[in-house]
Amino acid sequence: MESPLHILEHVFGYTEFRGQQQAIIETLVAGGDALVIMPTGGGKSLCYQIPALARPGCGVVISPLIALMQDQVEALKAAGVRAGYLNSTLAPQQAAEIESALLQGELDLLYIAPERLIQPRCLNLLQRAQLALFAIDEAHCVSQWGHDFRADYLELNLLAENFPQVPRVALTATADERTRQEIAQRLALGSAAHFISGFDRPNIQYRIQLKDKPRAQLLEFLRREHPGQAGVIYCLSRNKVEKTAQWLAEEGFNALPYHAGLPAALRQQHQRRFLREDGIIMVATIAFGMGIDKPDVRFVAHLDLPKSIEAYYQETGRAGRDGEPATALLLYGLEDVVKLGQMAASSEGSEQFKRLERQRLDAMLGLCEITSCRRQALLRYFGETLPQPCGNCDTCLQPPQTWDATEPARKLLSCVFRSGQRFGANHVVDILRGSNNERIKQFGHDQLSTYGIGRDLSSNEWRAMVRQLVARGYLQVDADRFGALCLTERCRPLLRGEETLELRKTLTRPGLSQTRSRGEDMQEQDLPLWHALRACRKQLAEENGVPPYVVFHDATLREMVQQRPISEAALMKISGVGDSKLARFGEAFLDVIRNHEYPAATTEEP
Ligand code: ADP
Ligand code: ZN
Repeated sequence: MESPLHILEHVFGYTEFRGQQQAIIETLVAGGDALVIMPTGGGKSLCYQIPALARPGCGVVISPLIALMQDQVEALKAAGVRAGYLNSTLAPQQAAEIESALLQGELDLLYIAPERLIQPRCLNLLQRAQLALFAIDEAHCVSQWGHDFRADYLELNLLAENFPQVPRVALTATADERTRQEIAQRLALGSAAHFISGFDRPNIQYRIQLKDKPRAQLLEFLRREHPGQAGVIYCLSRNKVEKTAQWLAEEGFNALPYHAGLPAALRQQHQRRFLREDGIIMVATIAFGMGIDKPDVRFVAHLDLPKSIEAYYQETGRAGRDGEPATALLLYGLEDVVKLGQMAASSEGSEQFKRLERQRLDAMLGLCEITSCRRQALLRYFGETLPQPCGNCDTCLQPPQTWDATEPARKLLSCVFRSGQRFGANHVVDILRGSNNERIKQFGHDQLSTYGIGRDLSSNEWRAMVRQLVARGYLQVDADRFGALCLTERCRPLLRGEETLELRKTLTRPGLSQTRSRGEDMQEQDLPLWHALRACRKQLAEENGVPPYVVFHDATLREMVQQRPISEAALMKISGVGDSKLARFGEAFLDVIRNHEYPAATTEEP
């Protein structure tokens, strides 16, 4: 049996394990079960791929993402691993070949969709094969509370009964304690070792801005900070996805739409282009993204408020898997809060479910409005402590200014109270500002004592205050009554004058220092070689029908630029170059590097 470290070096081309990888791998190699919680980009795949190679037999990976299996398998094949997949996209003949390879002991890793795995025919096949382990990827899909629930996952507990001697590992990036317990319980992982990694993603810069002129804000962000780079833009509705993608295309960006309403073939084509071409922007609903392990996504932008901090963290986590700088930008406004509240209230779920949704939304809003470090707040939400402010979020980079809002807040709260707690933010602000529109007159609100007492602040300032008062629990948005504002218990001390209130001054567009990918930081004189290596990668990727990063990651190319290896031995030392890739691609890259130095050398001759 080859040692895990040997496999890490020779198959994957890496020199050392990351975080808890080694401990997880040792547990599985020794035949134990494991539950692995690791943030996106933490390196979960190696945790089951290496034990599958080290142990006799084939490792079975259960993944819900049929569309991605082919890419995953191709990436493994490029590294010299005997891998295959079984899902509904295969023709019967192809499936038969994979099945026979499995039975002959000619497969190291086999990816199977859960709905296929639980069929008696497939279980029977697996019974006849020698199995190294089961890896249940995206294990949070078993949680009925989560957004990604899949009924087929519930049946995976049959693995424990039918294959008691095969070690099982469940993996997810979803953090919270309840999901964790649900996974352990439903997948019969009672005696599994738990490996819970820290959740921080230090290379992601978190920024949350008020939605002022969202299109202008987005354009500036894309043009100034991420020109030509790959990213994901999330919108709440399909309609907005389509419109945004079209508009960006008109603005000259390489943008594609993705949502569950598009024909499956088109969806898959867009996903494929996103993975394979450089610099595509995917404009999508949350239907897009699970399991997308494209390493070089440089930004994730939200044009609408996510439903919960969990969702926000998962979606932003798709940026910067390669560890290079990436940005998460969220634009939000009060109308988002109302819309999401209404969606939650009108959903099918039980009362308890709705209350939970509501709490999650409040927590998300709280994150938007805090005046301290965003990362500290995020990690705290997941039960982790970051001792110092991070220095890489908007509030750290540009501390928000605060002001004493006690008096105006009292005015606002009493205006809500006096108008009967039946009106939304716009109307309340109209009363405060002494507007004399139809509705004001219709309800006789120009007679209220609070009419016109707030002319000193602009509508936008008042709306910002409403948002912050909602975020801090002074006001509630009643989703059942079209976003009517009402007071909560928390208001009492403030209204009685026993408490003061500091609020964030509204900054709509902080001009932050730019995040730049390290590719751009490259020395001027290194750029020609960098581009030549990328062109070589592109050509090899096309010849082999795989995405460029399957050939080599950016980080590997960058190291080539720095080290300029001209021998196989030197190339082998570069991170990401394993035996198989060295044999298949090594010579091509060495040629580029060797030839690249010729012009400089020949110029010295007359
Ligand atoms: P996850 O599934 O946890 O999101 P991946 O398994 O896709 O993460 O790994 C993220 C990236 O980190 C991949 O590009 C992978 O090749 C790289 N990686 C994983 N483990 C190591 C390691 N020990 N050394 C260097 N790179 C690693
Ligand atoms: Zn911070």
